[in-house]
Amino acid sequence: MSDNLALYIHIPFCRGKCPYCDFFSLRGDTQDYNSYIVSLKEAIIYWSEKIDKKVDTIYIGGGTPSVLKAEQVADIINTIKSHFKVTENAEITMEANPKSALNFDFSIVKEAGLNRMSLGIQSANKNELKILGRAHNNDDIKATVKNIKSSGINNISLDLMLGIPEQTIESLKNSIDFCCGLDVEHISVYILKIEENTYFYNNRDKYNFPDEEATADLYLFAVDYLEQKGFNQYEISNFSKTGYESKHNLKYWNLEDYLGIGPAAHSFLNGKRFYYNRSIEDFSNNKIIDDGTGGNESEYIMLQLRLTKGLNLDKYKEAFGEYPDKDFFDKVKKYCNLGFMSYDNNTIKFTKNGFLLSNSILSELI
Ligand code: SF4
Repeated sequence: MSDNLALYIHIPFCRGKCPYCDFFSLRGDTQDYNSYIVSLKEAIIYWSEKIDKKVDTIYIGGGTPSVLKAEQVADIINTIKSHFKVTENAEITMEANPKSALNFDFSIVKEAGLNRMSLGIQSANKNELKILGRAHNNDDIKATVKNIKSSGINNISLDLMLGIPEQTIESLKNSIDFCCGLDVEHISVYILKIEENTYFYNNRDKYNFPDEEATADLYLFAVDYLEQKGFNQYEISNFSKTGYESKHNLKYWNLEDYLGIGPAAHSFLNGKRFYYNRSIEDFSNNKIIDDGTGGNESEYIMLQLRLTKGLNLDKYKEAFGEYPDKDFFDKVKKYCNLGFMSYDNNTIKFTKNGFLLSNSILSELI
């Protein structure tokens, strides 16, 4: 485990609200962006004076960071670099959506040190993009990927979604083929969750969402097909070419320290959890909410089992002084016999089918 810090910066603005989204994001104008960046820079300086760790990953997420100008994102990165000790090879990622990124000057953020881009494309099928309320089309995605590459940023991740109304194995294959055709390094595949207080939730009867079985088929197809295409699965929803796993996200799953700056951003630092409310005003007033201690045995098991490398019991013992109790192993054996888990070389893992049921299995295990 590294003693370095992962830094997450939240940009809470989007051009509109997607029907499935419950992230904290608002419509903003230039003035909102400018005043938010002032607060953000103050918070970066505030935390840099409290924390002495080296930062080796930075992730600028949202929201839609690409609604900002490239100069503003570069300003954020430069502020971090001048107040925190950022390691020379730090992974610095920014999220973007293909439409708002069309006029974004990637060479400016590359110059500031940004070296990884994550694009939320969700699908390469016109009807699915329409259902998801996304404004971009495949030409926008191609143009944005081309712009990113010509700036010299050569580590690109694309997000796809599973469980979209009307989605079929064939349409999913088309989306994966489209991503592979763009020669990217990383693909995330998230199962759509219908969260309360979203448009999809309030109108769920009007849509033909795939049922659990159909969604499971889509997931298992994605896992196999992505592997065939050279993308190794390293986490429930994440696949990459060798050596291109997200270093930042791996820190969350390995229970390493991270600091989240921005409304709704969560942190885990020196065994403590804390967060900012979903409010720009509270964030500007530096109102930080204590969320107690974290990093216990259950969290460690839950997070490590998200990874395909699984839970190594020797490492667990090193961290917590003893192995999990007999009851835990009895349950693991039961799920091994059912084909949902494996237990070899002192390491417990979910199988592909097990990942699909991981939430309910974990709630019994821990
Ligand atoms: S662009 Fe992303 S963060 Fe913004 S509303 Fe859509 S899903 Fe949510």
